[in-house]
Amino acid sequence: MQTNFNLAALADPAMQASEKILRTCVHCGFCTATCPTYLELGDELDSPRGRIYLIKKMFEEGEPATKEVVQHIDRCLSCLSCMTTCPSGVHYMHLVDHARAHIEATYKRPLAQRLMRGVLANLLPYPNRFRLALFGAMLGRPFKPIVEKLPFLGRQLGAMLALAPKTAPNRSSMEGPAVFSPDISQKGRVALLSGCAQPVLAPEINEATIRVLNRLGVEVVLPKGEGCCGALVHHMGHEKTSHAQAAKLIDAWMAEIDGKGLDAILITASGCGTTIKDYGFMFRDDPAYAAKAAKVSALAKDITEYLAGLELAPALQTGMTIAYHSACSMQHGQKITDAPKNVLRALGFKVKDVPEGHICCGSAGTYNMLQPEISGRLRARKTGNIARLRPDAVATGNLGCISQIGLGFEERGEAVPVVHTIELVDWALGGEKPAKLG
Ligand code: SF4
Ligand code: SF4
Repeated sequence: MQTNFNLAALADPAMQASEKILRTCVHCGFCTATCPTYLELGDELDSPRGRIYLIKKMFEEGEPATKEVVQHIDRCLSCLSCMTTCPSGVHYMHLVDHARAHIEATYKRPLAQRLMRGVLANLLPYPNRFRLALFGAMLGRPFKPIVEKLPFLGRQLGAMLALAPKTAPNRSSMEGPAVFSPDISQKGRVALLSGCAQPVLAPEINEATIRVLNRLGVEVVLPKGEGCCGALVHHMGHEKTSHAQAAKLIDAWMAEIDGKGLDAILITASGCGTTIKDYGFMFRDDPAYAAKAAKVSALAKDITEYLAGLELAPALQTGMTIAYHSACSMQHGQKITDAPKNVLRALGFKVKDVPEGHICCGSAGTYNMLQPEISGRLRARKTGNIARLRPDAVATGNLGCISQIGLGFEERGEAVPVVHTIELVDWALGGEKPAKLG
């Protein structure tokens, strides 16, 4: 596609990168067929091609974001399905990330939006604050029908309450900073990202991961100084905060890499994995962090990518049929498609692919709270597709999808457990049966 940027605009390296991406788009429209918001809303401006056009115009004119641009970019899930489909290799993720940062820098959102986004950005990445907020949300859950009728932020607050668990998850005894060494001879040493919301909502995921790795002879370190990876606020366009959070994490991991060394940095939330694997790009122009960020990105692996290279011998045969839901950040963001299913099959699970598996479940970080209407439609579509498989359980590799699909089955009045893939791996290797499986 031809672009028309002036030289002053192209002096900005971020704009140069976006201009290069824009030029690779040939406007063929293949991506529209796999874009969830286009499929649901049918508006060209809610398709990748339409959004690319809006971003191009905004950047070329060098003007503040308009209400129209913000509306259509906000509706984008950043699911990256369009990147998988695009034959020209358009890097939509970098383009929309840049557009979101431009929106935050140039557009003043209405008060309700500012409040909602501010609350999410200041709660979710901080486990202690989030734990407190969760407690409040649990107490407020029975009042959801009243809350969602409120004229001011009713739908968004209702969506938040719906996603809150009914009971408080126990605090894990395996929180960091800590080192978990195997009882058998050591074959490797990895860092595990503790995460921010995940250890509060589902501490069993990291616990299962540590047990599995130790059983396989791998030492696991939860380094001092860890925090949120920055993905959450990155997708809200808060560039400065996301970079600060990422830099803190890079420092924590570099201390281990330069100390006892790491074979890999393992991640159990694919949304975080996509961002961490992109640190090299995020810090490309930062002389203090470029090399360190690239090193961290090169070592980052999803837990199933790492397990796929190890020998797995099941301790029991569960005989269960699992619907595997591939999170968008797993399949489109990281291009990991077979490893999780192969790991489950190697352990004796019967694994089924979900029809329309490339379409997002509507979770998408904070999207299910910020865009509850579209998110609810996608949730119903996803759970409907999974239900057709009549699985014993659903497995996936991203906490956001676990909560979203779990809520979808609750709305359908069906009791289909949704667990993290690693919980099934742990169970099959002789660990605890996931509590949700009864
Ligand atoms: S498929 Fe790729 S090249 Fe075609 S319109 Fe979409 S982004 Fe542009
Ligand atoms: S990231 Fe997803 S929602 Fe956004 S334009 Fe691409 S396919 Fe559509």
